[in-house]
Amino acid sequence: MTRLALIGTGGGVGKTVITATLADLADPPLTLVDCSLENPNLELIVRHEVLEAIPFEGPVRANIAPDACMRCRRCMANCRFGAIRESEGVPFVFPWFCAGCGLCAAICPADAIRMTMSVAGELVHSRAPKGPFLHGRSLPGADESGLMVRQLWKLAAIRRARDGWLIADGPRRAGHHLAYTLENVDAVLLVTEPTLFSLQRMQHLIRALHRVRSTVLVVINRFDMSAEGTRETEEIAGSEGIPIVGRIPFDRAVMNSLDKGLPVTRFDSDASRAIRRLWTRVQRELGESQPGRLMKRGFSGLGT
Ligand code: SF4
Ligand code: SF4
Repeated sequence: MTRLALIGTGGGVGKTVITATLADLADPPLTLVDCSLENPNLELIVRHEVLEAIPFEGPVRANIAPDACMRCRRCMANCRFGAIRESEGVPFVFPWFCAGCGLCAAICPADAIRMTMSVAGELVHSRAPKGPFLHGRSLPGADESGLMVRQLWKLAAIRRARDGWLIADGPRRAGHHLAYTLENVDAVLLVTEPTLFSLQRMQHLIRALHRVRSTVLVVINRFDMSAEGTRETEEIAGSEGIPIVGRIPFDRAVMNSLDKGLPVTRFDSDASRAIRRLWTRVQRELGESQPGRLMKRGFSGLGT
């Protein structure tokens, strides 16, 4: 199995759209993983049938039993996060503000406060046309935690197909989210675009990926937006020995295909042809013809 994660250099660079198109081009069996649990958009493009949904327990939160409460307001006065409010004289916990420190439960004279696990979202195992699709969502207001991404990868390890490709729509955040993803893939396709913000973010990501010696490829989306930005992107990648494996032009066909809920590769267009070339190059770079023989390469060892 060859496992590839797409990591974006910013919101809106086209990571999810390109993930969906590569998934459309890959031969079965294909395992799909969507690590963007706050914005799980891949499920909007990939047809799937849900097989199981597993609640994800988040951090502990305080809960007040109104019947047991003596209305002394000690908890309100001592919560440093301002998480305990009052409604018609009855205190209640505003869960988004509660840090789960447990102070209020410890000082409540009526023993009216319990610390309980909260549900932060769900992890989902679905069946997509080419194989398993592991995804999920964090509930509104419940922060997508690195732990949730880790649990998703554990589920993926159990439910994934035994061979073929695993393609992951990588997390939007760095830190634990990225670290747990990198632990579970062989290579990263950095999706970038020729903007100042993306250039800066790309350099940060390269530094992080350099530390874990990930195999890295780069695709420049909407490369024709800025000749200068594209040249700078190519220079940064070139100085690190990272191959640019694709340049995708701005193409309204991408938006039109999304309106229809289909990947652009189902249509003939400039972007569609560029993505087909990208997929051919990705397969060649990652040695898909010799599954299981993919080597982790240091940056200095990458050729173009
Ligand atoms: S400390 Fe306990 S008894 Fe006092 S207001 Fe808070 S919940 Fe009620
Ligand atoms: S657990 Fe801590 S943060 Fe949460 S309501 Fe109680 S005192 Fe405030």
